[in-house]
This record gives sequence, C-alpha cells and structure tokens, in this order.
Amino acid sequence: MRTIAFGYSTQCNVKCEHCVAADAIPENVKMELAQAKEIIVELANAQVRGISFTAGEPLIYLDDIAELVGLCRDHGMYTRVVTNSFWAKTAKLADAYIIRLKKKGLSQLRLSYSRWHQKNIARQNILNAAQSCQQNGLDYFISFVTDFSEQDDAFEHYLRDHGLKFFPEPVIFAGRAQSFERLPIRTDYQANCCPMNPYLAPNLDMYACCDAGSHFTNTNFFHLGNLKEHTVEQLFNKSETNRLYTHIRNMGISAMASFAGFKAREIVQYRKCELCEKLFNTPDLLETLGQEADSGLNSWYR
Ligand code: SF4
Ligand code: SF4
Repeated sequence: MRTIAFGYSTQCNVKCEHCVAADAIPENVKMELAQAKEIIVELANAQVRGISFTAGEPLIYLDDIAELVGLCRDHGMYTRVVTNSFWAKTAKLADAYIIRLKKKGLSQLRLSYSRWHQKNIARQNILNAAQSCQQNGLDYFISFVTDFSEQDDAFEHYLRDHGLKFFPEPVIFAGRAQSFERLPIRTDYQANCCPMNPYLAPNLDMYACCDAGSHFTNTNFFHLGNLKEHTVEQLFNKSETNRLYTHIRNMGISAMASFAGFKAREIVQYRKCELCEKLFNTPDLLETLGQEADSGLNSWYR
C-alpha cells in the first residue's frame, strides 16, 4: 500500500535539541494551501492510501491541516498527524483540537514525547492530548523518542503510571542530534530491514525515506525528484523500482553491510539509520553497491 509523510511546513514553535527535521532543510518553508490540496488529489489518484502530516509542527496551521484532513477523508485516505502537543495546555483546549480534527475525519494522532521535547512542552500536555483522544474516540499513540539511557526511565514511568499507549523510538543521530553521545548497544544481530515510507518536503522535493534520508547530502541517495518536474506516479515508481531500495526493504541493511565487507562486530555497533548512512552516504561505496545491485547482492539472500 502506498503511503507518504507529508511535510506541509518545516516551521515549529519549539527547538528540540535532538530534532532530526532541523538543519537539512531551511526553517519556515511552507506549501501554499491550494497547492497542498492539488497534491493530495494527485496522491489519491496515484493510489496513495495513507498520509502522515509531519515535518515541523503541523498544528501551528490547524485550519489548513483540518481542511487537508477533510480532503483526504473525502478521497478515502487514512490520515495521521504527528504533533508535539503544544496546543493541549488544558483538558478543555485539548478537547477543542481533538473534536475538530475528529470531525474532519482524522484517523490517528501521533504524540511526540521525549526528555528533549519535554524541555519545551509540559508533560501534562501529552497527558491532556492522550486523554482527550481516549474520551473522544480518536486513535492515538505516543512516540517515545529515547537514546535508551537511564535518564529516560522517569519519562517512561510517567507514561506507564498514566496507562498511556506508547512505543519507544530510537533517537536518530542526524540533524541536531548528530553530535549526541552514542551509548553501546546490547542487542541481537538484526536484519535491519526498512519499510521506507516516502517523504514529501514543503519545497516539493520527495525522498524515498521519511526519517534520516534527507540528510544524506553527500550522495542524495534517497532524493527521488521534485514534484515541479515530475508527477507523483513517476516518483513513487522510482521509489518502488530502485534495486538498492528493494534490497533495503527485503534483505535489510545488515546483510548489505556484510556484503560490502563490514565486520559483524562492527555492524552490531550501529543503529539502523547510522549503518544506512555509512553505506549509502559514501559516494565510492554507493557506486560499488549500485553496480552489485542486480548481480552480487541478488545472490546474497539466504
Ligand atoms: S522534534 Fe518535533 S517538536 Fe521538536 S523541534 Fe523538531 S519538529 Fe519541533
Ligand atoms: S535505515 Fe535508512 S532507509 Fe531506513 S529510515 Fe533509516 S535512513 Fe531511512
């Protein structure tokens, strides 16, 4: 099923010190509402069935996002809004936003939460937003961004103590988090397959990956093109037929790194997006992998 992360604007009302959206693209770039509506219709015609409104903080533009969510509903698309909950200072304010978005047909709210977000936004806002979702029948979950250090225990307990639905998400060491200290990882040798949800930026650049992909500036490996020059269908086709992307989805990044000569001991030391950057943001290595995409890598499956 085709889905996309839709960056309506890069503007945010806070500056989290771990923000992956920062630095790669200029701040305060925004689509025109009329243009966003045209793109959503084009996405629907290209059989895109799910849209996640993301980038900066979408709900700075509540009126516009509510209208776009309504348009998606009219075209039978699943919608999610990713938000920092700045608007949920009280239960009453939270209800005002949630009831409005639900009426427009919003399918799900994703609440961002971490020790970095919560330097700017009170934890109570997250609770207000989540409880308002529960009371008004809107699906939600909390994305608990963590570097798995003990510092995050109290933040996790807060979610458990209030019975909230949350999923830990590893912090991505890109954007402002580029210089963060990396803690040693103790886990299995994982395949690191990646579903690669495409991302549309407000300047209409489209990327094959919605997370750290736009930061691979040495090679622009994930850049698919710009909607001013290509159609949605063309860019999705590119994303779906690129052989290396297919290997990332099916074989996984660990096997590709092993094929490229990385030691197993080295591979387990990287987080998924870091290993991905090592492989695909190094021009020489990328060229070699590109040459092997249809030959050696094809026989590297178990
Ligand atoms: S992490 Fe989210 S809330 Fe924080 S600055 Fe970035 S876009 Fe804004
Ligand atoms: S592993 Fe690579 S493709 Fe997957 S989210 Fe990270 S940067 Fe994107």
